Amino acid sequence: MKIAVIGTGYVGLVQGAAFADVNHSVTCVDKVKEKIIHLNEFCEGKRNDLPILEPDLPRLVKENYDKKRLSFTTDINEAVKGAKVIFIAVGTPSNEDGSANLTHVKNVALDIAKAMNYESETPIYKIIVNKSTVPPNTYKVVHDIIASETRNGFDVVSNPEFLAEGRAVKDCLRPSRIIVGTSNAKAASKMEELYAPFKDREVSIMFMSNIDAEMVKYASNTYLAAQVSLTNAMANLSRELGADWRKVLEGVKKDVRVGRFVYAGLGFGGSCFPKDVRELIHTMSMYRGNTLDLEYLKKIIEMNEAQKSVFLPRMEKYYGSLEGKKIAVWGTTFKPETNDVRESAGLHMIKELLLRGASVAAYEPSGSEHSLFALSLDENLKPHMERLAFAHDMYGALKEAEGVVIAVEWNDFRNPDFEKMKKLMKAPVVFDGKDIINTRHMEDYGFDYFSVGRPDLLCFSKN
Ligand code: NAD
Repeated sequence: MKIAVIGTGYVGLVQGAAFADVNHSVTCVDKVKEKIIHLNEFCEGKRNDLPILEPDLPRLVKENYDKKRLSFTTDINEAVKGAKVIFIAVGTPSNEDGSANLTHVKNVALDIAKAMNYESETPIYKIIVNKSTVPPNTYKVVHDIIASETRNGFDVVSNPEFLAEGRAVKDCLRPSRIIVGTSNAKAASKMEELYAPFKDREVSIMFMSNIDAEMVKYASNTYLAAQVSLTNAMANLSRELGADWRKVLEGVKKDVRVGRFVYAGLGFGGSCFPKDVRELIHTMSMYRGNTLDLEYLKKIIEMNEAQKSVFLPRMEKYYGSLEGKKIAVWGTTFKPETNDVRESAGLHMIKELLLRGASVAAYEPSGSEHSLFALSLDENLKPHMERLAFAHDMYGALKEAEGVVIAVEWNDFRNPDFEKMKKLMKAPVVFDGKDIINTRHMEDYGFDYFSVGRPDLLCFSKN
């Protein structure tokens, strides 16, 4: 089936390649010319990297490009021509008030409608699929924009995406669920044909109304975000009581009703949880006013923001002041196996440390480019940036450091060379924002060790 995917970000590129892999003919479109040039150069062997980092994505893209099932263009007319299904997979960032910004979605809807008019004298009925995460009822907005521009036949289907960055290829090739929101039988049957190769004994296509499908996505992310906040509240308390959250968890997790997001950390980040919970808060405020439900959702965000700073008062107490201290930060993405730094705890730590007068030596396994760009957008940081340097390797960041903050659970950080760390650092002090270090090593090598959910260990400063 010929399909078009508009937007070649974490969702559009991976899902487009996955559809190509099951023999659909996919044209991916992006308005950013440099991105399309980058993708084409990668496919032609002129460069090694893709614009986004995802395990196995280079192979998937290259193989399907070579088989002529996947192509990239900035020309939406070319992509829409002959396509039966058109996916909208553009960003929906937060507005100032927390609501989702639908500018990109609306622009694409209009572009699609114009391209439909341009197609031919005998137009093909189209299914416009909203894969972007959009507030409940957006399907009507998209429908109205397209209907106001073209008289050609189409339906709007709501098909939220559940891939997780860092495992996006796996998630797209073997989805946990396929949600199709439509009340139109013809559209439902086309979607069934499109997704048939992804169905198996465990994964079926779940049909529901558009608004149900839109709501599934927000409810899912809000459940997961709430679980992270609750976990961190339990972990913070455990530590203060002198309990070890990792041990507590062993008992709690025996209850199968408790989910997977139960590891203590510096809060959630990324492009989805924060913005999607904020959007649901905004939607709820329009329907329910200032009720307890609304307060509950707001607290998820507030607790998460506070969690990103959970080490700062503890560091200030430990060092007296952070002014003039050199601190290393390991990891600036919002999770491992991605190069996405949006709303990450590592960038938050860098910012707060710089504002407190510390020097920061950071290291990020996926490269420093995205982090430096994100930090450069913050006007408040401009006078402090000269105290920030990115190292080329994780140990390089430790030279003369008086502490290291582990902000992401990249595998390299789980079991580092402690002997080497101790030699390089001015003071062997670890702030483990992901509770990943085996505390036995901290004792053996004589580190001071601070984590989110486990009691402090003062093996260095006590001697
Ligand atoms: P992204 O920012 O990585 O990519 C969006 C792409 O759309 C960009 O390349 C941008 O240039 C392009 N674009 C914007 N306007 C365009 C236009 N008018 N024409 C053509 N291209 C245009 O975003 P993403 O992370 O892929 O997310 C896309 C949507 O999917 C969002 O609504 C997001 O909430 C949702 N989602 C994301 C994830 C995730 O893990 N990233 C998971 C599930 C759902």
